[in-house]
Amino acid sequence: MSVLVLIEPNDELSLQAVTLARSLDGEVHGVSVGATDAPVDVLHIAEIDGSYAPGAWAAAVVQVVEGLAPSAVVAPGSDRGNEVLAHVAARLDLPMAANVIDVRGDEVTRQRWGGTLLEEARVHSDPKLFTAAPFAFAPSNGAASSTESFAPALYDADTAVHVVETVSASTGGVSLADAKVVVSGGRGVGSSEGFAILEELAALLDGAVGCSRVVTSAGWRPHADQVGQTGTKVSPDLYIACGISGATQHIAGCKGAKKLLAINDDPEATIFSHADYAVIGNLHEIVPAITAELRKARGA
Ligand SMILES: Cc1cc2nc3c(=O)[nH]c(=O)nc-3n(C[C@H](O)[C@H](O)[C@H](O)COP(=O)(O)OP(=O)(O)OC[C@H]3O[C@@H](n4cnc5c(N)ncnc54)[C@H](O)[C@@H]3O)c2cc1C
Repeated sequence: MSVLVLIEPNDELSLQAVTLARSLDGEVHGVSVGATDAPVDVLHIAEIDGSYAPGAWAAAVVQVVEGLAPSAVVAPGSDRGNEVLAHVAARLDLPMAANVIDVRGDEVTRQRWGGTLLEEARVHSDPKLFTAAPFAFAPSNGAASSTESFAPALYDADTAVHVVETVSASTGGVSLADAKVVVSGGRGVGSSEGFAILEELAALLDGAVGCSRVVTSAGWRPHADQVGQTGTKVSPDLYIACGISGATQHIAGCKGAKKLLAINDDPEATIFSHADYAVIGNLHEIVPAITAELRKARGA
C-alpha cells in the first residue's frame, strides 16, 4: 500500500502535507515538478519545461497515480495544491476533500469557511484525494530516500493555461507570507497616511505590513497586503493587529501566527479573544510609543 504526496519545491505547506501522508498507512511517495528536498520514501520528479501550468502538473500526478495505484493522494493546502488536485480529481472523475485536518479510514475532518467550521465527511473513492489544511500539521523534514525522474506525456491543452508573468509585490522588503513579524492595520488606522506609523514599526522589526479587507476596499493599501480568508494567510512569530476588530474572515488569515498582539480602543473587540497580548487604547498613540521604546532599547 502507498500514499502519494504532491510536493511543491521549497514549500512549507508541502512538508505539512507529507506529515498528513505519513499518518496514513503505506509507503509515502512524492511527486514534484523539478527536484526538491522532500522527506518521502520515493520522490518521482516530473521533467516539465516552462512555467507553472496546473494541467501539466495534474497530468504528471495522474501518470504516477496510474503506475502506483496509491490509496490516497495528498496535496498541500496552498492555492497551487488545491488547484492541481482539483484538476487531478476532474481527470480521474473522483471527489476531493480540501483542508483536511484528520483522516480515520473513510472518515475525514476538514475545515470549512476559513477554519470557522469543522465538517465530518465520508470519502468513498479509490484513491482518496485530500489537501492538508494549512498549519494543521507540523512540517516533516529530511530528504527523499530515493528519486526517479520521468517525462510525463503532455498535450497542448495541458499547458494552455500557464503562468506568463510574475509580478512581485511592491513592498520592497520582506514578503507578507514569509515575514516573521507582521504589523497589520484595520479601519482604525483611518487613512493610507495613517499606515506610516505601522510601516515604521514593521521596518524596525524587519517585518511586513498587512491589513484588513476594509483597508483594501477603501484603497488605503493594495490587495496584496490583505490578510484573511480572501487574502494572504500568514504564520509569523508575531502578528500585531492594530485597529482590527477580529472578524472571522480576518482571523482565518492570521490564526497561524505564534503570538498575536492586539491594539484596539474597544475593550469588547472580538480580536482580544484571539490575542496573547492586549493593549486597550488608541493605536495612533500606542504604535509610536512602541517604536520609541524599541529605539531606546536599541540605543538608536
Ligand atoms: C466572503 C467574505 C470574505 C472576507 N474576507 C476578508 C479577508 O480576507 N480579510 C479581512 O480582513 N476581512 C475579510 N472580510 C471582511 C470582514 O468580515 C470584516 O468586515 C473586516 O475584516 C473588518 O475589518 P476591520 O477589522 O479593519 O474593520 P472594523 O470591523 O470596522 O474594525 C475596526 C476596529 O478598529 C478599532 N479602532 C477604531 N479606531 C481605533 C483607534 N484609533 N485605535 C485602536 N483601535 C481602533 C475599532 O474598535 C474596531 O474594533 C470578508 C468578508 C466576507 C463576507
